[in-house]
Amino acid sequence: MEALIRQFLVELGEDAGREGLVKTPARVAKAMSFLTSGYKANIDEVLNGALFTVDYNEMVIVRDIDYYSLCEHHLLPFFGRCHVAYIPNGRVLGLSKIPRLVNVFARRLQIQERMTNQVAQTIQAAVNPAGVAVVCEGTHLCMSMRGVEKQNSTAVTSAMLGSFQSCARTRMEFLELIRRPDAVHASSAAVRLSCIDE
Ligand code: ZN
Repeated sequence: MEALIRQFLVELGEDAGREGLVKTPARVAKAMSFLTSGYKANIDEVLNGALFTVDYNEMVIVRDIDYYSLCEHHLLPFFGRCHVAYIPNGRVLGLSKIPRLVNVFARRLQIQERMTNQVAQTIQAAVNPAGVAVVCEGTHLCMSMRGVEKQNSTAVTSAMLGSFQSCARTRMEFLELIRRPDAVHASSAAVRLSCIDE
């Protein structure tokens, strides 16, 4: 990778031998390896030992998970926050595993839509909950740096599975909870029951 990056600097018209750039290929190679380390992660290992049998079936939300990824079209960063929720069906996942799971998929060459789906599908497969919801917000440097006059725009992607897809009220409750930091999570049971009729 270092040889390729040295060549890349030359193609840009740079002197790859000048002082400031001598160690750049090694640094870039190291940084890129880290930023794409999600390819090497083993999902089973990440989730290992963190699935628990629990009699709890209210919505679990982990909000404001920071992520940094690279867009596969330009190899430029996109970054933002991810909000993840699920409704357990006899099993829960250790809370700290959810941000780790987001990182596994963010540290790859990605498009935000696919990353959002991968997080949702992986939780669905591992926990088999009644529903999973993932919303990601992202600022894409390929948009904001390239002069497309969209400096402050944010892309929002979502994946709704199970009851989050079939029940509008459950979905609304989730969206409300990720928007309002002080929202009180008290209406769940009533919302859940009302959905049985829908
Ligand atoms: Zn891009």
